[in-house]
This record gives sequence, structure tokens and C-alpha cells, in this order.
Amino acid sequence: MDNCLFCKIIKGEIPANLIYEDDLAIAFEDINPQAPVHFLVIPKEHIVSLDNVDENKKLLLGHLLLIASKLAKEKGLEEGYRVVNNCGIDGGQTVDHLHFHILGKRKMLWPPG
Ligand code: 5GP
Ligand code: ZN
Repeated sequence: MDNCLFCKIIKGEIPANLIYEDDLAIAFEDINPQAPVHFLVIPKEHIVSLDNVDENKKLLLGHLLLIASKLAKEKGLEEGYRVVNNCGIDGGQTVDHLHFHILGKRKMLWPPG
């Protein structure tokens, strides 16, 4: 998608602190971290949100979560972490390219409010 911020990061048109890349996905640090560790895992394919996936995407979705788990280990999040997906307007999604937030090194509250 031409106008998508995260597609531009994937293409290298906007800089980001990349921490992982493979054929299907990248991960990079969030520009406005909400915890000492806060990174995003996103598919290279432009998918708007979790509301825009079907059976064909199940391997990709699993892949993204495994990347999250692997990177959390690499970042030393042995005390735990939170994985967040904001979906759509009510979910508070601000960038319309599917992404999982991984937040760690901070005690998270529940419910989030
Ligand atoms: P959402 O609110 O859609 O779940 O999350 C979007 C996230 O993208 C936010 O946490 C925001 O800080 C992050 N973000 C927005 N613009 C940029 C950017 O240009 N670079 C990076 N690294 N993160 C961004
Ligand atoms: Zn995109």
C-alpha cells in the first residue's frame, strides 16, 4: 500500500530500529515506547488488521507470534511480557497495517482501561 507507514518502513523509505527480518515479517522498536522494551512485529504483506484475515493467513499469524516469543527471549523478558493487538476504531488501532505490540520490563496492569 502506497500510503501505509509500516509498508514504508518495510521498504526502507522510513527509518526504524529493525530488530528482526525474514521473508515474511519484520520487527522494530516502537517510536513511542510504553514500556522499557516495546517493539512491533508485523507481516511484510499489507494486511489492514486482525479483522482482515482468514484461514489462508493462519500460518502467517502463527509465524508472527513465534517471532514475538523468540525476540522476547532475546530481549531478556524472562519475567514476562504483554502482547497486544489493537484492532479497529474501538480497539484503538492508529496504524492500519496489522501489528503485534510486545511490551516488557514493566509490571503491566489489568484491566488496561
Ligand atoms: P496502534 O495504535 O495502531 O496499535 O499502534 C501503532 C504504533 O505504531 C504506536 O505504538 C506508535 O507509537 C507506533 N508508530 C507510529 N509511527 C511510527 C513510526 O514512524 N515508527 C515507529 N517505529 N513506530 C511508529
Ligand atoms: Zn502496510
